[in-house]
Amino acid sequence: MKTPEELTQLFRANGRKVTAQRQCIFRVLQGDVTHPSAEAVFESARRDVETISLKTVYQTLNDLAELGEITSLDVGTGMTRFDPNVDDAHHHVVCRRCGKVRDVYADFPDIRLPDGSDLGFEVGSAEVVFRGLCSECQTATVGDPATGASGSATNSDTAFTTDTAATTTAKARTATLAVPTNGPSGQ
Ligand SMILES: [Zn+2]
Ligand SMILES: [Zn+2]
Repeated sequence: MKTPEELTQLFRANGRKVTAQRQCIFRVLQGDVTHPSAEAVFESARRDVETISLKTVYQTLNDLAELGEITSLDVGTGMTRFDPNVDDAHHHVVCRRCGKVRDVYADFPDIRLPDGSDLGFEVGSAEVVFRGLCSECQTATVGDPATGASGSATNSDTAFTTDTAATTTAKARTATLAVPTNGPSGQ
């Protein structure tokens, strides 16, 4: 994604509105590695510019996506996420409990449709989504039976474990989920 200044010029060059609210959204997205939802962008932007509306956030995110400055992402967290990292091809790791999303830089040169699968597609790319528990959720859920692989839900539509407000602070387990920390800001 371009810098806020470059985005301002780009928007003007494309005949799109540039307002203080929109520029605030540019700043919020800059270097954001959290893959925020529109609501998360709204919450951050509102701290800066109180008058911002969710509608403005949606419109600006749409404009940015149309211009190729961000991508919208559905990684199964129940809401569209937005990714300002459009310059480096990458995959994602997703926390199945809290919905945290981080970038993963890895090559999977062997991913392709099997020979002979005559689906009629010409495939240009493949994306890999890793799922697990982030370090916070591993710590917060020690001894919480709700996070067991099967849980108590029998409804197969329940794809995501709901937050059962586990408050245990036990730190018995150390983080084992492989979350690469080589993102742009090192988080
Ligand atoms: Zn988590
Ligand atoms: Zn990403």
